[in-house]
Amino acid sequence: MVTRKEDFSKWYIQTIQKADLMDYSPVRGCMIFKPNGFEIWEHIQEALNYRFKQEGIRNAYFPMLIPESFFNKEKDHIEGFSPELPWVTEAAGEPLEERLALRPTSETMFGDAYSKWINSYRDLPMEMNQWANVFRWEKRTMPFLRTSEFLWQEGHTAHATAEEAKTRTQRMLDIYAEVIEGVLAIPVFKGEKTPSERFAGAERTYSVEAMMQDTKAVQAGTSHYMGTKFAEAFDIKYLNSDNEHVHAFTTSWGVSTRLIGAMIMSHGDDQGLVMPPRVAPQQVVFIPVGPWQKNPAIMDKIYELNEELASKQIRTVIDGSDNRPGYKFNEWELRGAPLRVEIGPRDLENNKVIVKARDLDEKVDVEFANFAEYIENALDEMQNRLLESARERNSQHIYTDINTLEELENHIEAKKAANENPGWILAGWDGTEESEAKIKERTGFTTRNIPVEGTVDKKAECIVTGKPAKETVWLARAY
Ligand code: AMP
Repeated sequence: MVTRKEDFSKWYIQTIQKADLMDYSPVRGCMIFKPNGFEIWEHIQEALNYRFKQEGIRNAYFPMLIPESFFNKEKDHIEGFSPELPWVTEAAGEPLEERLALRPTSETMFGDAYSKWINSYRDLPMEMNQWANVFRWEKRTMPFLRTSEFLWQEGHTAHATAEEAKTRTQRMLDIYAEVIEGVLAIPVFKGEKTPSERFAGAERTYSVEAMMQDTKAVQAGTSHYMGTKFAEAFDIKYLNSDNEHVHAFTTSWGVSTRLIGAMIMSHGDDQGLVMPPRVAPQQVVFIPVGPWQKNPAIMDKIYELNEELASKQIRTVIDGSDNRPGYKFNEWELRGAPLRVEIGPRDLENNKVIVKARDLDEKVDVEFANFAEYIENALDEMQNRLLESARERNSQHIYTDINTLEELENHIEAKKAANENPGWILAGWDGTEESEAKIKERTGFTTRNIPVEGTVDKKAECIVTGKPAKETVWLARAY
């Protein structure tokens, strides 16, 4: 295995392959999610569905093909998405009268339907989510992180007031932060995107950004406030209590299978994948050791312990294959299984098993009497440890005292010479697109987001022009 330090991108691909998460497809940029990879997504879905439904947001499903005329209704939207759209132009051997796009996102489809379904203020808010595949013909692709077809959820809501829509936009950003931190153990940075990074057609775009182990950023999720732009384009109007027909205010928000890539890059180590217990397909792996085939009592004990865990809804697997224990240990380490439970003849005699957590070196003897309780706690502890160590790592790579582009360039050079990663920079920004472009051109760093009010100390001067800073922004290289 190549190490993270030697070549992080190569390490990422190797880790994915050794863990058997995905395969490439004949179409460039599209990928097959194998069960080991897809199950991670299923656990992310469970966590999000629970929270969506608690919010009163339920799932629907809309068609994948979108008529070209729909896109043309919102100028910014079509402008932003048209470079990435694949089109269906014929069917049943005949050219179609109107081209149909493979959806890149579904504001237009929801907009059209909502205009029919919303009539009075009593129909509001209207809030739905869909789980779907979407297509964006990306030039540069990377498994999970950036693919031409990806799986995601997209929520679409319509409200009577701007205030309500803004509250929904913020609330979903908070829910993303909770799930990404609480379930994937990835700390996130919440904030608003700069205008140049806004979703095509949005008035405001907010994001949660995450720092990977090589300190590059991943945009982990986004939440958009549309104002009345889509309502105007699609004629989403309602009769208010004064008997006037007025436009609704809409939002949309999404996270994708990119989160799986972010999880791998956040927690993996030089022995392979490390999975946070809450998303791990198998949380506990039982491996019999010693001459266990000659001693049926060992397997019997494993079945018994396995039942104890099943009653606590803990996901387990028993590896009773013919391979040598050392081989199995290695295999399950590559796959990132959180806990390994070993049991051999001597352990059986002593009424105990040996437990090893994927992220720690030590092995612990655990008595049968305490087994299930121990495992339950150990999974929680590992979950917390991963989040805490990612937080700790992040804090070591944040720089708040770089004040000019020259200082930033020197910083990057110095880090490169020391074979270290450049980290994230908190910088002042004068609010102009020119300054943003200059930062990118000279350093390869881009604005990630404008941190939520009160979470950072503001910078006084723009890193490019030295003029008073309009905003304080996170700068980083990004995937
Ligand atoms: P958007 O609709 O552009 O706000 O995208 C919503 C979320 O989908 C983003 O925040 C990303 O996390 C994710 N995403 C966008 N493009 C891709 C892609 N090509 N592959 C995987 N995930 C993506």
